[in-house]
Amino acid sequence: MSDPRFQARRATQTEIPRTKRGEGQWALGFTEPLNKNEQSKKDDDPLNVRERILHIYSKRGFDSIDPADLRGRFRWMGLYTQRKPGIDGGKTGSLAEEELDDRYFMMRVRSDGQLLGATQLRTLGSISTDFARGTADITDRQNIQYHWVEIESVPEIWDRLAAAGLNTLEACGDSPRGFLGSPVAGVAADEILDGSSALAEIKRRYIGNPAYSNLPRKFKTSVSGHPSLDGAPEINDVSFVGTVHPEHGPGFDLWVGGGLSTNPMLAQKLGVWIPLEEVPDVWEGVIAIFRDYGYRRLRSRARLKFLVADWGVAKFREVLENEYLGRKLVDGTSPERAVRNGDHIGAHEQKDGRFYVGATPTVGRVSGTMLTALGDLVEKYAADGVRLTSYQKLVILGVEADAVPDLLDDLEVIGLSARPSNWRRSTMACTGIEFCKLAIVDTKQRASDLIDELERRFPDLDTPITVNVNGCPNSCARIQVADIGLKGQLVLDDDGNQVEGFQVHLGGGIGLTNGFGRKLRAHKVTSAGLDDYITAVVESYLDDRTEDESFAAWVAR
Ligand code: SF4
Repeated sequence: MSDPRFQARRATQTEIPRTKRGEGQWALGFTEPLNKNEQSKKDDDPLNVRERILHIYSKRGFDSIDPADLRGRFRWMGLYTQRKPGIDGGKTGSLAEEELDDRYFMMRVRSDGQLLGATQLRTLGSISTDFARGTADITDRQNIQYHWVEIESVPEIWDRLAAAGLNTLEACGDSPRGFLGSPVAGVAADEILDGSSALAEIKRRYIGNPAYSNLPRKFKTSVSGHPSLDGAPEINDVSFVGTVHPEHGPGFDLWVGGGLSTNPMLAQKLGVWIPLEEVPDVWEGVIAIFRDYGYRRLRSRARLKFLVADWGVAKFREVLENEYLGRKLVDGTSPERAVRNGDHIGAHEQKDGRFYVGATPTVGRVSGTMLTALGDLVEKYAADGVRLTSYQKLVILGVEADAVPDLLDDLEVIGLSARPSNWRRSTMACTGIEFCKLAIVDTKQRASDLIDELERRFPDLDTPITVNVNGCPNSCARIQVADIGLKGQLVLDDDGNQVEGFQVHLGGGIGLTNGFGRKLRAHKVTSAGLDDYITAVVESYLDDRTEDESFAAWVAR
C-alpha cells in the first residue's frame, strides 16, 4: 500500500467550488466522470481485466470479450486490437473503432531499462515465432511490440514472460507506461550515476499498484544518469536527469511536463538535486500530483504538460514539496545536453575495460528469429546482455575487447548493424497503417525504402540528419524533434487525387538543438515523392551550409 501522504486527495463538499466548471481534477472535488474513458475507469479498476483475460476471454475466445474491456481496459495489460487489413487511411477518421478492429492484438512488453540476458532474448524470440507470426518491433520507449497475437495465446505468453522476469502490465492505458533508462547504465565510462536501482524500485512499488492505475492519461518516465541524456528527458512527463551538485555530488534534477503529440511541450526543469535513493519517493509525488490535480475533462488536455503549463514550475515544486513530500528539495541544476543524441551506436569502451556495442535494426523492426539469434550471440560472446534504447536501437553490454570485431560481423549476419549509414542510424518510424487503427499512411515500409534510396543517393553523408516518420499527428515517432519530421496525412497529387503523404517539419531536435521543427504548412509531400523531396532538401543544405553548420542551424537561419 502507498504511503498515506500519497493517498488520493479528495476535497470535502464544503471545499468544492461547485459554481465553477472544473477540469475534472479529483483534488478539487470533481470526482464524477466527465467522459466515457473516465466512466470506464471508475466502473472497474482496469487492472481487474487481467483475471478476465486469464479465466474467461482466453478460454471462450474473441467474441466473448466485453467491448468496454476490449477497447478500454485491455490497454492496461499491454493489449490493443490491431487494424483490420485492407482499410485505407482515408477511412481512418470516418469509421467507428469496431469497424477498424481486427480480431488480433498488438502486445507491448515493457523492458524498463532492464538488462536482457540470453534467456530473456530467446524467450522474446520464441513468443514472436510461436504466437506473433514472427513480428517484433523495438519501440522508442524501449518496449518490444508484437502483432497478430490471439486472445487464446495470452496466458501462455504471460507465463513465458513471467518466467523471464518480464511483463506487459500497464504497457498502455492511462497508467505509468514503460520506463526509459540509460542503455549503458552502470557501465559507461562517462556516466554521472547509475539510475537502474531507482527504476527497479519504482517498478517494484508502483507498477500494477491500484493507487496509480487510474491516471488522467498516460504517464511517461525517464531516469538516466548518462550525460548524453539518452532517456529523452525533454519529452517525458517525469524525468530524472543525472547531474553533479557542487556540495552533494552525483544525483538527479527533476524535469516535468514534456510530451509531443498535439500541443507539444518540452519538459521543464525544477532546478533541484535528488539523491538516488530518494528518486522513487519523488516519482510517487509527481505521479500523485498528476492523479489528483490532472485534468480529466478532455483527453486532449489531460497530459501532465497542461497542468505544468498552467501552474509553472515554481508552483509545481511548491505543491510537490508541501502537499506530497512534506519537505523541501535541495536546490540544484542540470546541464544542457552535451552531445547530439544518445543512441550509443558503435563500439565504446566501458569503465571496466570491456566494450558495449550499439547496433541498429532498420526502423526498429526485428523478428523472432533475430531476437533468438541475438540471445545466441550474447551467450557466444559471454556478454552481460542487451538493453533497448529510446531510438529503436539496442546495445550489447560487456563484450571483451578482442571479441568486438567478430561480434560486429556476426551482428551484420543477423540483420543488425553497429556500423550503419547515417540514414539507417538516424531514421525512426512508428507502427503506421500496417497495424495501427489511428494511422493514415504506411510508415515502416516507406521509411525502410527511403533509407535504401538515401543510402544510394548520399552514401557518404558527413553529418547526422535525423528523419522521423509518423503515420498520423500523434507523434509516436516524435515528428517535432527530428531534423526532418514527417506527419502522415492525405495529400493531393498532381492530378488532384487524395493519396498518402506527409506534412513536413524541418529543423527540430532534442539536445543541442532543443526545439521543435518548424511546421512548414506549404510543405506537403506525397509518399511517392518523398525520396526526391528529401534529396532536394539535403542537397540544398549541403550546398549552402557554412562550415560545421548543422542541419537544424541551417533551417533556423
Ligand atoms: Fe499510430 Fe499515429 Fe502513433 Fe503512428 S503516430 S503509431 S500512426 S497513433
